[in-house]
Amino acid sequence: MKHANLAVFVPHIGCPNRCSFCNQNSISGAQNAPSPDDVKKICDDFISSGASERFVGELAFFGGSFTAIPREYMLSLLQAAQPYVKSKVISGIRLSTRPDAIDEQVLELLKDYGVTAIELGAQSMDDEVLRLNRRGHTAQDVINAASLIHNSGIELGVQMMVGLYGDTAQSCIETARQLIKLNPSTVRIYPTVVIKGTQLDMLYKKGEYSPLGVEEAVEICTELLGMFTKAGVRVIRLGLHASQTLENDMTAGAYHPAFRELCESRIYLKEAQKVLKDFKKGSVKLLVSEQAVSKMTGQKRCNIKTLEQQGYKVKVAPSSEMELYKVRAEQE
Ligand code: SF4
Repeated sequence: MKHANLAVFVPHIGCPNRCSFCNQNSISGAQNAPSPDDVKKICDDFISSGASERFVGELAFFGGSFTAIPREYMLSLLQAAQPYVKSKVISGIRLSTRPDAIDEQVLELLKDYGVTAIELGAQSMDDEVLRLNRRGHTAQDVINAASLIHNSGIELGVQMMVGLYGDTAQSCIETARQLIKLNPSTVRIYPTVVIKGTQLDMLYKKGEYSPLGVEEAVEICTELLGMFTKAGVRVIRLGLHASQTLENDMTAGAYHPAFRELCESRIYLKEAQKVLKDFKKGSVKLLVSEQAVSKMTGQKRCNIKTLEQQGYKVKVAPSSEMELYKVRAEQE
């Protein structure tokens, strides 16, 4: 059966920090804190719509620092999900939190309530970048939390940002290298978007911070996507969720509603260029997996046009033999 995320956005409540990029309401698209009844409603709707017969549901608490919200409130949300965990309507609960809001005691609690995956908001593994962006934790905190999560038997996920204040392409790649060493199952990669009212917005307006544009972010994230994929870490998100609130509240940064598609398309272009090095200029057929034909072609045929400028007249064809991000060329 296919997988469905039943997302519950838990905003800033109780978070003592003010990270440079954070205006939690805009990022999660949610203005109000969910109640236990909201959790029940999401699960009940999943059943009554018939979706639970077609999908394996996973309840996902995102948007804030789940284990740093008031403990009683956190437990009330988990408690509301228990009947659905016990009846196996949902296969598990995943949540995101800060690395310094993880300890053995909270992990025990989460396990008792059926939490199956925790995503750590690492954002960077460069202490200077973490300091400049007021994260209030260090790279070592991420390493310690990852190790505690592994020991608890709960699945580990990580989240990183690209293009923070003080960041460079090199520090993003180094962050990815260090996160891969933590052996996570999943990663989410978020290019930085500047939101009104945040510290980044202030720095940007004063000219002290230059956020990445979409093109620069695509270039870096394409590399990261390749690194994580090669290491066997599933990239479960690349780019912020498209939302009207976000589009209204952003002032700059690398936002594109189809950001992942842009990066995957770039991977296919690079792969095709590598493969074509051994080919004569002229007509070639590029074989890719069945789902990847549009990615190989690129938005508005941009990949085809680039290859044409390099002397290749390209046809793209699907092949059931091709794996993800692989390209094979045949001379026509
Ligand atoms: S820790 Fe999370 S919720 Fe708190 S300010 Fe930072 S990003 Fe926002």
